[in-house]
Amino acid sequence: MDLFEYQARELFEEYGVLVPKAEVVDTAKEARRGADRLGGRVVVKAQVKTGGRGKAGGVKLAADPASAELTARQILGMDIKGHTVHQVMLAQPVEIETEFYVSYVLDRAEGRFVAIASAEGGMEIEEVAATRPEAVARIPIDPAHGVTADKAAEIARAAQLPPEAADVLVKLWTVLTEEDAVLVEVNPLVRTRDGRLLALDGKVSLDDNARFRQARWGDAGTAHDDPLEARAAAKGLNYVKLDGQVGVIGNGAGLVMSTLDVVAGCGARPANFLDIGGGASAQVMADGLSVILSDPDVKSVFVNVFGGITACDAVADGIVQALDEIRLTKPLVVRLDGNNAAQGRAILDGHQHPLVEQAPTMDGAAERAAQLAN
Ligand code: GDP
Ligand code: MN
Repeated sequence: MDLFEYQARELFEEYGVLVPKAEVVDTAKEARRGADRLGGRVVVKAQVKTGGRGKAGGVKLAADPASAELTARQILGMDIKGHTVHQVMLAQPVEIETEFYVSYVLDRAEGRFVAIASAEGGMEIEEVAATRPEAVARIPIDPAHGVTADKAAEIARAAQLPPEAADVLVKLWTVLTEEDAVLVEVNPLVRTRDGRLLALDGKVSLDDNARFRQARWGDAGTAHDDPLEARAAAKGLNYVKLDGQVGVIGNGAGLVMSTLDVVAGCGARPANFLDIGGGASAQVMADGLSVILSDPDVKSVFVNVFGGITACDAVADGIVQALDEIRLTKPLVVRLDGNNAAQGRAILDGHQHPLVEQAPTMDGAAERAAQLAN
């Protein structure tokens, strides 16, 4: 689960990392009162779980409580990369001298965390990483030792951060380990004109597998950030939203993973992962299809089933019943193979839905679904 900036800020504060004084509000009127309490001048910041808020107009300085109210009114309800702003954080403005970047990221390929740090933080960090990679230090962390004072000093040196940053690096590592996070990112970590180091923005992702021992987040742990994933989870579906155009349904996680690869190999991009498992009842098929069809990015759907214990005729019956329950609005390509494939195909042929077509092979079906999507 990703945390909001204000939640990351609270964690940082708890572990002794300096942060600006701040409040979270969800109406413009409260923003005015909050700004008043914070001394008048505030930075109004959209609380959405996505980066690039500054560039999208979601981070604005307000000179006094009246303009904080106006600014909050502009930002609340704003759409930033598909995320609606429901809350804004008001923060005491800081006089920035320099902006740094620091993060701990799980490197799954290496099987360990890596510290990434740069003396050129701020909103352009992706560009710095792309054009001048030498300005971004990557230091692997030995999981047996973590970030000790020595290690932190090494990271600070490698990234040309001021030596005092080492102390912040140790504290952020404590946040990561104590809170079971898989990502802690501060951009910018700033040095103020009066020489203090402050975390001005924070991104923290928690490890959902550690939920059970992190009681403080309670039910928030089951919350899905993507609305389609939330809907699918409510129906008990194994669904992950991706960013392509070909909706994918399959039975068995391995088959679905291969299906994503084959779709990608055909020059299209899968819109989701959805494993309907062994049973593949009409209800599960209908639920799965309705989630996928309500994804505005989806242009075609590929149903890829290999009949095993659940034979293809049962799956075909499920598809036919599902088509009676929902209104199919996008073309569906079905590939049935395995146990009772011929019977299954005959059932779908008999149904003759204008938007449904069959393909005998996985490659052929992926090719067709990709073509329909493109
Ligand atoms: P992001 O765009 O989502 O990463 O949002 P940030 O919280 O990082 O804010 C974007 C930029 O706004 C920062 O890189 C700063 O340059 C600027 N900013 C944010 N808060 C302050 C502040 O208190 N004072 C000043 N001078 N600039 C700020
Ligand atoms: Mn930022």
